[in-house]
Amino acid sequence: MIRIENVSKWYGDFQVLKNCSTSVKKGEVVVICGPSGSGKSTLIKTVNGLEDYQEGTIYVNNINIGDPHTNLPKLRAHVGMVFQHFELFPHLTIRNNLTLAQMKVLKRSRDQANKRGMELLDRVGLIKQADKFPPQLSGGQQQRVAIARALAMDPICMLFDEPTSALDPEMINEVLDVMINLAKDGMTMMVVTHEMGFARKVADRVVFMDAGEIVEEAPKEEFFSTPRSERAQRFLAKIL
Ligand code: ATP
Ligand code: MG
Repeated sequence: MIRIENVSKWYGDFQVLKNCSTSVKKGEVVVICGPSGSGKSTLIKTVNGLEDYQEGTIYVNNINIGDPHTNLPKLRAHVGMVFQHFELFPHLTIRNNLTLAQMKVLKRSRDQANKRGMELLDRVGLIKQADKFPPQLSGGQQQRVAIARALAMDPICMLFDEPTSALDPEMINEVLDVMINLAKDGMTMMVVTHEMGFARKVADRVVFMDAGEIVEEAPKEEFFSTPRSERAQRFLAKIL
């Protein structure tokens, strides 16, 4: 589903991604972790074309992201992305946040979009909040709406960049539970997170990055029990 092959990226003469390769098969959940500044956000954003890169190739569903003929906006419409900050439209109700892109991008009617939006809002446990505005919701609730909004576009895969790291501790689990259910339903997911409980529950593999490199990639059991590199060992000692 997602194939990242030998991707390198520079900001001026600072190399932020160093020959990175990894892949996510259909239905797999891959967790990316690593120290701050290691390039996790940059890597995940290359997958839907939010960051460009100078070397290597990325395929999503066999479409080459870097090919100038690729219709990036179209592809991006089917790659769901959830960021650290919820990025809902604050002046639109939850309902309208959920329907806008469905109508604009997928050309669904208001009724169709509303039906799909409300199904998903129900699935994240927030159906009663449909006619509120984002600032009237807690951070955890807003992030669940953001996930529902991404799902409303019928994504072929979902990218998450530290979706819980801006939340108060008591709200983290409600968002992780939504993500865990999504994983169990078979969604293909690439997730930057330091929530190792989440990784232990649903990840197929863990990718560890440091200083722009993919230092290690292993099935989760192996990564947690016997990390091979000293850098991963040091990282795990700090966060576990
Ligand atoms: P964090 O855990 O803090 O989110 P990260 O692993 O997501 O970190 P990135 O945000 O991908 O790291 O950044 C990787 C490196 O690239 C950092 O050293 C950062 O300072 C640098 N960087 C990011 N964006 C730019 C930019 N626009 N120009 C120059 N350097 C940048
Ligand atoms: Mg980041």
